[in-house]
Amino acid sequence: MKHWIEQRVIESPNKVAIKQDDIEITYQQLFKESKVYASYLKQLNLNRVAFYIKNDIHHVSLIIGAWLANVEIVMINTKLTSREIEQQLDSVNVQTVLTYNSLDIKQKNINISDINHINKHNLESQFKMDNIATIMFTSGTTGPAKAVPQTFSNHYYSAIGCKESLGYDSLTKWLSVLPIYHISGLSVLIRSLIEGFTVVLEAKFNIDRVMHLIKHEGITHISLVPQTLQWLIKEELKEPYNLEKILLGGAKLSESMINKSLEYNLPIYNSFGMTETCSQFVTASPEMLRDEPSTVGKIPSNVKLKILNKNADGHGEIAVSGGNVMNGYLTTNSNTTTFIDGYFKTGDIGSIDENGYVYIYDRRKDLIISGGENIYPFEIEHIMLNHPQINTCVAVPVEDEKWGQVPALVYEGESKIEINEFKILLNEYLAKYKHPKYFYKMDEIPRTSTGKLSRHKVKEWITHE
Ligand code: ATP
Ligand code: MG
Repeated sequence: MKHWIEQRVIESPNKVAIKQDDIEITYQQLFKESKVYASYLKQLNLNRVAFYIKNDIHHVSLIIGAWLANVEIVMINTKLTSREIEQQLDSVNVQTVLTYNSLDIKQKNINISDINHINKHNLESQFKMDNIATIMFTSGTTGPAKAVPQTFSNHYYSAIGCKESLGYDSLTKWLSVLPIYHISGLSVLIRSLIEGFTVVLEAKFNIDRVMHLIKHEGITHISLVPQTLQWLIKEELKEPYNLEKILLGGAKLSESMINKSLEYNLPIYNSFGMTETCSQFVTASPEMLRDEPSTVGKIPSNVKLKILNKNADGHGEIAVSGGNVMNGYLTTNSNTTTFIDGYFKTGDIGSIDENGYVYIYDRRKDLIISGGENIYPFEIEHIMLNHPQINTCVAVPVEDEKWGQVPALVYEGESKIEINEFKILLNEYLAKYKHPKYFYKMDEIPRTSTGKLSRHKVKEWITHE
């Protein structure tokens, strides 16, 4: 079997693979540069190397080079501190990091720009779909980040599922502003290698740049997280231009964002997925969202889904099986309860209705169980965000002698709010047992390195209050 890049060079050698600023690189050029990196990596004689990279054409070549050289890539989130990086690398036994920046860590640093004109090494590498392509860490929202091995096969089936439920073809121009060390960014590159479309790469998210590219570069696809969509809409994204698909995921998309986007005819596709499933595997089209705004959509034909331990409302933990799902964490102690009958337990609570629409409520770990009743933090947060002085908030459980747990609300806002003001909203919209018993104002609610609100850190903060 041929590597994806080799197949590309046969089918569309002169097609632009990546465009970044004023630089364009064809698939043939990308292959050529990748081979230089592959030769270098072969010479290192390691089967697993960490990459500290950014959204940069040469770093994409480096990734492909590693694949040609049969080297497993451990992706490092560049927002982590040195100590966090050391810990993650230790947990997957990596001693060498290829980096664009010198890192103050105990593992060996090799600067990527020092890799040049290496003599061609024998590159007869075999492409095996079951080999590990990348190792990525989860966001660490619910606890320590877990190391996820992603095989070529996992990536491939994820791309095929995405093609079915979102849609793309060789004429697609996908703007990639999400980091390529994350699955949301890397999966775009993989789809382009398999399909042969052009990726427009941006080093980081800048509203003016993104708007410029959408308006003048004929961008058809873009992957965003809800927060960045919100910024764009607030700015000037009020019509679709050439956009055919705006893929959203990673966190909950609020109903007001959905309504606003639909009002402007923005082709938003909400989706649900995770590092362990190599990106999204449930996708909602604008038509589905018009029909059912709170759904994350339907599954593609190559994925199976189960709801475990359903309650009376049909809500339970989502479990998934399919070619896109990882085989098991690399970090020890995290596997025992992760799979059941071949299905991966996602840790997310959801349901499926008779039309096949999937709904996500909250994470199992975040559920607040008060007097035997389940309370979703999202329900409380959703209501409290209506308060004009609350910018962001999270509901978390605190121990309670009588009820076991009760909800507490932590909010970011301009000033401290009187409890009575909360009560007005709560009495109108939420059953009594769901009312937060404690309210805390925080200057800045802690987030994970991928920008998700960290209930885990908020809970720790409360215990010290
Ligand atoms: P960790 O597993 O370390 O706690 P994490 O689960 O946040 O971190 P990721 O793999 O980056 O790490 O994120 C996947 C999770 O993001 C999903 O399990 C789900 O909880 C959340 N998520 C993804 N898409 C959506 C969505 N559309 N709506 C709500 N939550 C979502
Ligand atoms: Mg997770």
